[in-house]
Amino acid sequence: AVPRLQVRDLTTTLVQREGAVPLVRGVSFDLHAGQTLALVGESGSGKSLTALSLMRLLARNARWQCGGQALFTDAAGQTRDVLQLSEAEMRQWRGHQMAMIFQEPMTCLNPVLTVGEQIAESVRLHWGLDKRAARLRALQALEQVEIPAARQRLDEYPHQLSGGMRQRVMIAMAMVCEPQVLIADEPTTALDVTIQAQILALMSRLQRDTGMSMLFITHNLGVVAHHAERVAVMYAGQVVEQADVHALFAQPAHPYTQGLLACLPGRARQRSLQEGRRMALQDIPGQAPAMDRLGAGCSFAERCAYRLPLCSLHAPVWQGDAAHARACHLEQQS
Ligand code: SF4
Ligand code: MG
Repeated sequence: AVPRLQVRDLTTTLVQREGAVPLVRGVSFDLHAGQTLALVGESGSGKSLTALSLMRLLARNARWQCGGQALFTDAAGQTRDVLQLSEAEMRQWRGHQMAMIFQEPMTCLNPVLTVGEQIAESVRLHWGLDKRAARLRALQALEQVEIPAARQRLDEYPHQLSGGMRQRVMIAMAMVCEPQVLIADEPTTALDVTIQAQILALMSRLQRDTGMSMLFITHNLGVVAHHAERVAVMYAGQVVEQADVHALFAQPAHPYTQGLLACLPGRARQRSLQEGRRMALQDIPGQAPAMDRLGAGCSFAERCAYRLPLCSLHAPVWQGDAAHARACHLEQQS
């Protein structure tokens, strides 16, 4: 089947007076219908910018240049390049075909509208429902995300809700028009561990019930192990390894991924994966390179224990196959 979303050579460049800074550099991946793809990497690796580029929600107070393609194919087999949609088309598209949820719900909840009003707003825009029908649909959406006392919440304001409930409201807003693709940017990072687990379980259930695809952005490898089928590992604006989740954990092929997984050795790693606990990605010695001073070679070279002389000179090539690939100069071991 044609993937729901085919991202090809996506580049996102911040244009400044001092020069252009490429922050997303040639990202490609496929997201299939009903699949969860995790985008993992340290903060600043370009995960959120990739998502914002796909949603066409890059900050308006800066100048951006986007390149590449993001081919979205709907259930009827129609393909559009999301990056080529007009602003007007994009307003229809967001929420309806692709929706996004964020780490901090308050950034996208409107403090002066009730929960019911803001969920209803989306269905009125996309489905053209009248006020009563939209309110009814909003109530259904709140029930779908298992908010206690849903009817009462409809008339409450965001500040009256707990952090976990706000996140449920944001999910309800994202899901209310039944998007085919949900992009979730660290949706549970700001929540405490118990609530995190509840929200993740909820998202899994919603995905099973609706068959939507999910692009799940996280730096928590435990979450990846539990909730994703595919993983793309990002470093310094590029994807450096892609694989099915089991293959990635069993045989990480890129030195950076190996480093990430080695941060918690042996039994601790197993246990952490089982419990979905957070893993620190920052424990690899050294720092990610400054994005405005990238050289021609592998951007991981300064931190890589396997570095070869050519690594600092030439960009690594992709090795492996569609199932499991990495960008690295080291010879592939079988
Ligand atoms: Fe390390 Fe070279 Fe591979 Fe980069 S290309 S990850 S420096 S071995
Ligand atoms: Mg981020």
